[in-house]
Amino acid sequence: MPTTFELELQSALPDNTVTFGEAIESKYWHDWSGLAPVQPLALVRPRTTQDVSIAMALCNERRIALVPQGGLTGLAGGAQPVAGGVAMSLERMSGVEEIDAVMGTMTVLAGTRLSEIQDAAEAAGLYFPLDLGARGSCSIGGNLSTNAGGNRVIRYGMARDQVLGLEYVLPDGTIVSSLNKMIKNNAGYDLKQLFIGSEGTLGIITRVVLRLQAKPISVATAMCGCPDYEAVLTLLKTARAKLGPSLSAFEVMWPSFVDCMTNGLPQLRKPFAEAHGVYVLIEASGFREEGESAHLEACLSTLLEDGVVNDVVIGASERDAKELWALRDSVSEYPKVLGAVIGFDIGLPTTLMGEAVDRVQREVKAQWPDAHVLCYGHIGDSNLHVVVNVPSAGAHQPHSEVDALVYELVRSMGGTISAEHGIGLVKKPFLSFTRSPEEIALMQRIKAALDPHNVLNPGKVF
Ligand SMILES: Cc1cc2nc3c(=O)[nH]c(=O)nc-3n(C[C@H](O)[C@H](O)[C@H](O)COP(=O)(O)OP(=O)(O)OC[C@H]3O[C@@H](n4cnc5c(N)ncnc54)[C@H](O)[C@@H]3O)c2cc1C
Repeated sequence: MPTTFELELQSALPDNTVTFGEAIESKYWHDWSGLAPVQPLALVRPRTTQDVSIAMALCNERRIALVPQGGLTGLAGGAQPVAGGVAMSLERMSGVEEIDAVMGTMTVLAGTRLSEIQDAAEAAGLYFPLDLGARGSCSIGGNLSTNAGGNRVIRYGMARDQVLGLEYVLPDGTIVSSLNKMIKNNAGYDLKQLFIGSEGTLGIITRVVLRLQAKPISVATAMCGCPDYEAVLTLLKTARAKLGPSLSAFEVMWPSFVDCMTNGLPQLRKPFAEAHGVYVLIEASGFREEGESAHLEACLSTLLEDGVVNDVVIGASERDAKELWALRDSVSEYPKVLGAVIGFDIGLPTTLMGEAVDRVQREVKAQWPDAHVLCYGHIGDSNLHVVVNVPSAGAHQPHSEVDALVYELVRSMGGTISAEHGIGLVKKPFLSFTRSPEEIALMQRIKAALDPHNVLNPGKVF
């Protein structure tokens, strides 16, 4: 027998918008965090902002939790449904509405996949620089709600930096349309910033005006084998100085990561015949008629002569470059290579990263001698990913013990427990390791002001 709320929800929305109970496909029960799936009471798949507003207002009135979902690739559990609550997938609100080549903007619906946005920008002769391994599945609404980072932050900034305007629905159902296209707009508070990075706890993003960039005419890619982390720091400093704004990616991988992934995935090629202390994937992109390769190669050859870099592989063709990136992008294959993993997205001052990697590898292995501890990250942005797998623990990985160890290390080194994935459910107990009591209290005051009944994505972040 449907409840009154279920009948109200169904009759308030167009046909085929709501699904209940057992009929909800299990893919909506969980995100990529690895947390146990939760079957929601109802799944709402709106087609318009008006539908979003109606469903949200009803949930608010009836005090039913509502969890926004994008591509469900989030790694922090932010999109996990709440038992007895509504999950709202934005997947049907997908598509590019307008590209304004003069203003350099693109207006899109929140459920649009990141790769679709990248392709549409390219087709218009422009460039959308936000890029991450989940590009084919994640949505721009999810990217903004998590303030995603990814591979090109070093040059273009995070998701937040790509946004000019936003439309969103507040927890009481109010639609706020602020589809600004101007770069300069200081008329009062910049409200959109509240909704970017707040993990769907303050409003549901429905439409976005993105800022597009000129498409670089040439891209050069190289993999470097360095003796140690000190050398990586010299490489970073030199690349910044010599390549300037052309430096568009600086991805670092420790041998633990490179060996595990190349051994586990036969399609991946080892970048070098010999082993090195640390590996760096470096990319330069720009507008020089003669291309970027000569500049990148000149920069790296001096470093080779100085012994800062032991060996270099240049991605001579687009295919070679893709092959080099394939190693870095292989992170989606952990389930195949390792099975269950405990993942971290920490931030530390770049200068301390080498020490942090040594410490985390040593301390984890001291307690779990058979553990794999894979380290890699967007080091130019002070962002390190650590992935732990204890083979002897099988499906029951020691999550809480490893979390406590890694986050304590982050706290002791003045880092952040989340550089780009957000807090969600997974990192909630550790928020105070990075944010002060005053900061957390202010976050809670903002949440209470916008969502007094705590219906929008309750229990996430804090
Ligand atoms: C293989 C792989 C590689 C990844 N690489 C990176 C990386 O390099 N950098 C990085 O930052 N992340 C990375 N991620 C994490 C993930 O892709 C990002 O967090 C992404 O931004 C999530 O987008 P989504 O659409 O999948 O969001 P979801 O997982 O569906 O949701 C994420 C959060 O946003 C909220 N949300 C979703 N849509 C909306 C909306 N329209 N309005 C309000 N709230 C909403 C949800 O409630 C949840 O809190 C990776 C994930 C995978 C699986």
